[in-house]
Amino acid sequence: MTLKILLTDATERLTQATSSKGEAQAMVRMIMEHLKGYNPADCVIHSTDSVTPWLEHEVNMIVSRVEGGEPIQYVLGVARFMGNDFKVTHDTLIPRPETAMLVDMITDRNSQRTDLRVLDIGTGSGCIAISLAKALKFAQERATDISPAALEVARQNAAALKAGVTFALEDILSASAPVDAYDIIVSNPPYIAESEAETMESHVKDQEPASALFVPDSNPLLYYKAIAAYAIKALSPAGELYLEINPLFADELSAMLRESGFTEVELHPDFYGKTRFATAKKPANG
Ligand code: GLN
Repeated sequence: MTLKILLTDATERLTQATSSKGEAQAMVRMIMEHLKGYNPADCVIHSTDSVTPWLEHEVNMIVSRVEGGEPIQYVLGVARFMGNDFKVTHDTLIPRPETAMLVDMITDRNSQRTDLRVLDIGTGSGCIAISLAKALKFAQERATDISPAALEVARQNAAALKAGVTFALEDILSASAPVDAYDIIVSNPPYIAESEAETMESHVKDQEPASALFVPDSNPLLYYKAIAAYAIKALSPAGELYLEINPLFADELSAMLRESGFTEVELHPDFYGKTRFATAKKPANG
């Protein structure tokens, strides 16, 4: 069998599975990059090569798992975020492209600073903390998560990407805040209300860690309230808070941040036009 036939067959099966030819083609690109280090041009150059039984077996196994509903990133064990490959497992959320906007906002606003102390709460795969550590010069980065398994993945990612981040096991719901310890606190905490799960695709709700996705309907701001209470103490005067948020609760969230003592509370859209981020400042004299 030639490479061309193998990949045409894989693309067809993935198109059936995902109902999107574009997505299927993107997955085939990821699979070939992962298995052979081939870019799309290499696939064309090698299209008439006959494939090894190993490659045929691997491609078919990966395609079958995606057909079974597993996200391709979990099957390959890797997700791309801001130009870097991050290890992901079922213990970590798959980094989303929107989250890169949060990282960009922080680096754009702080490109002149060289001495920042940064905390990422609920780091998961470590994608935010590690991307920041690579982008900000001489920043001191700390990242916490409640999941030991996620922290292990984050540690491996930091080592592989040579990012200086200190990781710690911590539950934000019970953490006691240090005083004046950080200049920037960032978090993308769980924010999907359990009732929203009905409308979600199964490759998200049945595959990604529920503890990283969901909050009770009765208290959708659960983590944000804990983060705000922590951050208003732990931030330095004029320190900045950056949050990824649920558009459904944006107004409630900005009111809560103001009540907690933050100023300059601003909401920002993602590239789909959804209100996806909130930024706020601890008062300079606070
Ligand atoms: N901070 C991680 C991310 O942005 C994990 C987020 C989460 O698990 N809620 O991917």
